[in-house]
Amino acid sequence: MKGRIAVAAGDGIGPEVMREARAVLDAIAARFGHSFEYVDIDAGGAALDKYGIPLPAEALETARACDALLLSAVGGPRWDTLPGRLRPEQALLGLRAGLGAYANLRPARLMPPLRAACPLKDEVLCASNPQGTPAFDILFVRELTGGIYFGERGREGNRAFDTESYTWDEIERILRVGFEAAKARSKKVTVVDKANILESSRLWREAAEAVAKDFPDINLDFLYVDNAAMQLVRAPGRFDVVVTSNLFGDILSDEAAALTGSIGMLPSASLGAGAGMYEPVHGSAPDIAGQDAANPLGMILSAAMLLRHSFHLEREARAVEDAAAAVLEAGFRTPDLCRGAPGERPVGTRAMGAAVREAL
Ligand code: NAD
Repeated sequence: MKGRIAVAAGDGIGPEVMREARAVLDAIAARFGHSFEYVDIDAGGAALDKYGIPLPAEALETARACDALLLSAVGGPRWDTLPGRLRPEQALLGLRAGLGAYANLRPARLMPPLRAACPLKDEVLCASNPQGTPAFDILFVRELTGGIYFGERGREGNRAFDTESYTWDEIERILRVGFEAAKARSKKVTVVDKANILESSRLWREAAEAVAKDFPDINLDFLYVDNAAMQLVRAPGRFDVVVTSNLFGDILSDEAAALTGSIGMLPSASLGAGAGMYEPVHGSAPDIAGQDAANPLGMILSAAMLLRHSFHLEREARAVEDAAAAVLEAGFRTPDLCRGAPGERPVGTRAMGAAVREAL
């Protein structure tokens, strides 16, 4: 197949991890007989430096015209003092909204070779896992284009406010993504909210009860977000699919990321009506930029999600995921994954990417 991919290499470690993800896609194209065309776009700090705005209209248009968007991460201290509407993160919000990408899928799985990188004790991991092994496999389904990140905000004198607001339709469509995903997994959906306090959360619960009627095989339960944050470190194996709002999903998925060993491991897909957007969960990590120290696996696994969800190339997506698992099994570790365990082979960003391509 022929595919056109918009690429935003971003800021900080972004260009380093993007280089490796593109090289992996090229290796997939060569091995499976596909051709991928890349179209670079400027977004975030890179766009601010060139055009004085975080997301030029042409960048969004280009992304819309492509089959998918691969984005690394934006932001950094150089742009931290700019006013809100000029912050690099506005590019993310603009791209997500502009592509109608309302469903953010964030898998958080503890891969067996990384057991030592998970800070939880065996007994904690085993007790909550139905299989009784020290593992967990959670899919966060985060609402991405509504809620407090897009609600009315402002200042009045010495008061500042942000607004959490959801419509039934916005909630229902993200719940359906979660229930559908649960069908192919352990058939359990947990809706995380704060329904004891927030009216918007009470609407989430009503919508979830209504949608659940269409999925009689799926188990539905509810957790308050404070309890969910605690259960993630006390019983991560109790979760299968977690569906939640933009704000709660942002926070909880980062917490889960820490349990998988490193935030550098985690991919995400943002899906909706238009081109899908694929990005690692991590930020631009300015503290390690330019040092060949970034873990490229979150970015590479995001490219695997692109192959699966935008190009429907399941075999190719699995080949990338299997290659990533194989390099971890073989002991390759970027600095964020090194725990001084026997058999570890410390490597930099380039060598990790090369190892994945070699495994492919
Ligand atoms: P961050 O994710 O960039 O970094 C947090 C910590 O994780 C740092 O210690 C960093 O070195 C480490 N880390 C992150 N990615 C890594 C990787 N691939 N390999 C190894 N270590 C990795 O979050 P932050 O420090 O809160 O934010 C830094 C900048 O990134 C800020 O400007 C922030 O606004 C931006 N940010 C962007 C996104 C995005 O583009 N989606 C997401 C979060 C933060």
